[in-house]
Amino acid sequence: MEGALHLPGTVVIRDAHTRRQILKAAIGGAAGLVLGAPIRGLAAAAQTAAAITVTGQLSDDLFLLRLPGEANVLAQTGSGGVLLVDGGSAKAADALTAHVSGLPGGGPVHTIFNTHWHPEQTGSNERLGKSGATIIAQENTKLWLTTDVTWSWNGQRFKRLPKIAQPNKTFYTTGTLESGIQYGYIPDAAHTDGDLYVYFPKQNVLAVGDVVSGEGWPVVDWQTGGWIGGMVRGIETLIAAADEATIIVPADGPPLTRQDLVKQRDMYVAIMGRLKTMMESGFSADKALQLTAALLEQGVQVALLEQPVPKDDWDGMHQVTQWGGIPVAADETATDARAALRIVQERAAQVVNIKLMKCGIVEALDIAAICRAARLRLMIGGMVESILAMSASACFAAGQGGFSFVDLDTPLFMAENPFDGGMIYQGARIELGQIQAGHGVTPKAFI
Ligand SMILES: [Zn+2]
Repeated sequence: MEGALHLPGTVVIRDAHTRRQILKAAIGGAAGLVLGAPIRGLAAAAQTAAAITVTGQLSDDLFLLRLPGEANVLAQTGSGGVLLVDGGSAKAADALTAHVSGLPGGGPVHTIFNTHWHPEQTGSNERLGKSGATIIAQENTKLWLTTDVTWSWNGQRFKRLPKIAQPNKTFYTTGTLESGIQYGYIPDAAHTDGDLYVYFPKQNVLAVGDVVSGEGWPVVDWQTGGWIGGMVRGIETLIAAADEATIIVPADGPPLTRQDLVKQRDMYVAIMGRLKTMMESGFSADKALQLTAALLEQGVQVALLEQPVPKDDWDGMHQVTQWGGIPVAADETATDARAALRIVQERAAQVVNIKLMKCGIVEALDIAAICRAARLRLMIGGMVESILAMSASACFAAGQGGFSFVDLDTPLFMAENPFDGGMIYQGARIELGQIQAGHGVTPKAFI
């Protein structure tokens, strides 16, 4: 881990950054919600082929498969073998491949789409990769599958997949197979930042992964780029791709109609509107607590509540920290070491967001020391800063250690970088090992 920082907050798609940043700016930036992804309950028992049920034959050659405790799998049979959209978890891989070879017109799997990187979708990749199948994914999904991911809200770790299991055919925007099957990226980083759809035009079936849910609340994996604001445009893309007769297959639950998507889209528009209004008007502790209670009740996991009330509302910070049930990060409230001490004394937050631009390096060292002594968790953040300032912050956090949250992504949405060197973004990580001395940043030569 030496010379590297895990970077929980970073996403890969550049325009998603920009859009999110615009929204953050629009809602005032004072309070931020970070949504985590609930984990799909996986059945503990070993899967057997007998346990797999075909829940729906969507056409002559399209089968919707349901494995107990697993995400949906869509299988298309044909003379050349079987095409899958998603492949269940690794422990179901053998049963799944055996089952699809026994479907009417079935055979070996020649192609699998990964709708996103989650293990419930990519568990068959290794087996199918070894037998020479084409594994198709959006480029960001491949990036996540080639790096280790740790969910900071529950500490769950995901090892990168072995080379043979990684997608061997990637794309950025859209593509079409020879058979006429169309696929494309689902903006705006709704569930993760690598979501894809697969459309079967002959059968009028649209597979959409976890961007919408057939049962329960759709989840947002913010760690790998998903965010609630992305849901609206993501679902709008799917609405545009569907007509009234389209069968829409989500990763969870029964198929949906276009009308169901419209309802889900409207719900997200309403939620975003409400959040925006609440944030613009500035939270009171009461309002913040109402919101956290509503989110928890809906089953939405919130990993962190950043500065839920105004800077000087110490009582409010204390109340939300005490009663909110969600870790609170102090941002504007934590201006200097004296404020950090007060946060400790008044239990006004569980996390302190250190920004070097806010307090300077010497003060930041004091804040970090106070937080460590008081067992508060640390976050490294920044304003809208270039690679120069962000590299200094990254080196500070990596050198100090013990930072649980990292939010250093603003250089990624700047049009131009006037510098060479410094930190390197690598999927979920910030790489610092290449820096020889200092922050490692030099101005680009101007001629
Ligand atoms: Zn998922």
